[in-house]
Amino acid sequence: MKELARFSIGIGDRFGMQGQAQLQALADARNLGCTIIPVWNKSYREHSIIHTDPSQVREEADRAVAALGWKDPYHVDADHISLKTVDLFLDYSDFFTLDVADYTGKPAEEASIARFVNKYRNRIGHLSIPGIDEGLEITEATLLTIARKYLLAVQEAGKLYRYIAEKKGAENFITEVSMDETDQPQGPLDLFFILAMIADEGIPAQTIAPKFTGRFNKGVDYVGNLAQFEKEFNQDILVIAYAVREFELPRNLKLSVHSGSDKFSIYPAIKKAIYTHNAGLHLKTAGTTWLEELIGLASAGGSALTIAKKIYREAYHRFDELCGPYATVIDINRDQLPSPDQVDEWDGDTYASALRHIEGHPRYNPHFRQLLHVGYKVAAELGETYRSALKAHEAHIAEQVRENLLDRHIRQVFIQ
Ligand SMILES: [Zn+2]
Repeated sequence: MKELARFSIGIGDRFGMQGQAQLQALADARNLGCTIIPVWNKSYREHSIIHTDPSQVREEADRAVAALGWKDPYHVDADHISLKTVDLFLDYSDFFTLDVADYTGKPAEEASIARFVNKYRNRIGHLSIPGIDEGLEITEATLLTIARKYLLAVQEAGKLYRYIAEKKGAENFITEVSMDETDQPQGPLDLFFILAMIADEGIPAQTIAPKFTGRFNKGVDYVGNLAQFEKEFNQDILVIAYAVREFELPRNLKLSVHSGSDKFSIYPAIKKAIYTHNAGLHLKTAGTTWLEELIGLASAGGSALTIAKKIYREAYHRFDELCGPYATVIDINRDQLPSPDQVDEWDGDTYASALRHIEGHPRYNPHFRQLLHVGYKVAAELGETYRSALKAHEAHIAEQVRENLLDRHIRQVFIQ
């Protein structure tokens, strides 16, 4: 397998034009003493909405790396792929996020469930994991429940992993297993046995994305019980460290936090946990960058602001269509949305500060922000009009992108 560093960050942007600005934030972090490896990612869902293809993400990454003379590794992630979509990504990616969320909750064959329960019967009783004080109790029912929920999904991940390994060669890529887009969060005990299943399937996972407790809505802050999140996040790290030894998984296996941008309220807990336990982290943040493009256009004023307003007007009228694919990861209260006519009255700073994610800012509106977050399809339809506006205001937009990634994300999560 190709090895992933301790700290890595998922970056990327809808239109493939902010690669250099994002990489600049990582170069700045490196100058501050913290090396974080960039992983460009774009999901099949995103590609199909904008009509781009994975070769363009590879080109964007290569171009940014060459332009800045970036010497550390960098990767291109086939994000949330399945057997149906993987082929498109094979030539361009060296990181594969195996998404088997659709198979969770569907039971595997009874015979394989019985084999799993038999194999792990010796774990029944009290599981004590170094660093976790409270007992994790395992009964036969625990094993059965977990097997019924996750075994089929991990078996599917195994098929997908072996398919990619056969096509690309096992030594040429990094594997992540993601289960974040499910309805039920996975607790530490679920994670422990999911890791056992992953080892049994022979998947050399280096990152695992469970669904954490609480809401990870796109582009806005975490909603949930902070204390509970912190406790479980720490337990997940300890479970991984233990499972790596018990099941002989890759030593650098670490947590991956999806929809990881803008979760400002949990960043202090994440930072504390990774440094306390000397753990790694992968944080996916790609979604936040396209909104910085809009902020840049709005604050540039003139015809750029007109484009930003037009995108909002369209998005407002196509609410259901745009929100549909993201229904599980957004919470928009329509009553809190300004009308497009109101927005048309705004100056650039008003638009930018309603959109820019500064918690506590009197103008910041998370509903407005989430709608625009899923509104990139409208910008894609504007085609050249949109892209040439980005080019016209390139330096100003790049600064929004860099500052957002460095100051609001990287510093809060990774830099001590
Ligand atoms: Zn995800």
